[in-house]
Amino acid sequence: MAKIKITVEGYKCERCGHEWINRKQTTPLVCPKCHSPYWNKPRKNPTTKKSPG
Ligand SMILES: [Zn+2]
Repeated sequence: MAKIKITVEGYKCERCGHEWINRKQTTPLVCPKCHSPYWNKPRKNPTTKKSPG
């Protein structure tokens, strides 16, 4: 048996780092692990300022 590399398209949650494969053609709404709807949005707050204290 020859050794091959199989590549499948999957998803990775930006929040919890969970990786999974979605058999459906549609983009998943939430992460199946942490159920975050922002799983595909990096944690960035460009407009948010953190006030000291
Ligand atoms: Zn997640």
